[in-house]
Amino acid sequence: METPEQNQVCDIFCYDEEKVNRMKQQVANTEGLSQIFKALADETRIKIIYALAREELCVCDISQIIESSVAAASHHLRLLKNMGLARSRKQGKMVFYYLTDACVKTIIDVALQHKKHYING
Ligand SMILES: [Zn+2]
Repeated sequence: METPEQNQVCDIFCYDEEKVNRMKQQVANTEGLSQIFKALADETRIKIIYALAREELCVCDISQIIESSVAAASHHLRLLKNMGLARSRKQGKMVFYYLTDACVKTIIDVALQHKKHYING
C-alpha cells in the first residue's frame, strides 16, 4: 500500500541548482504581498471590496450592507485604505469610498471563479 507521503516527495533528494537560483530571484518579487492577503483574509472586508467593486458607497451604506456599526465599517475602510486597496473622497457632508483600481476587483473576481471551479465542486 502507498501512503500519501510517498506520493508527495521524490524518492531521492536532487535539485536543479540553475533552476533554483533563477527562481529564487523571481520569487523575491512577491515580498510584501502577504500584507494584501492579510487585508483580504476577512469575510467582512471581502464583502466591502465586492460591493465597492460594483458601486461607490459611503460609510453609512457600507455599515448597512455588512450589518455593523458605522464605527466598525469605518475601521475596516481605514485598513483597506492603508493597504492601498480603497480610497475615499468627500462630497458635501458625505465621504464616498471606491476601489483604488481594477486590480483589486480582479483579485476578488478570480478568487470567486476559483471557488466555483474547485471549492463548490
Ligand atoms: Zn454616509
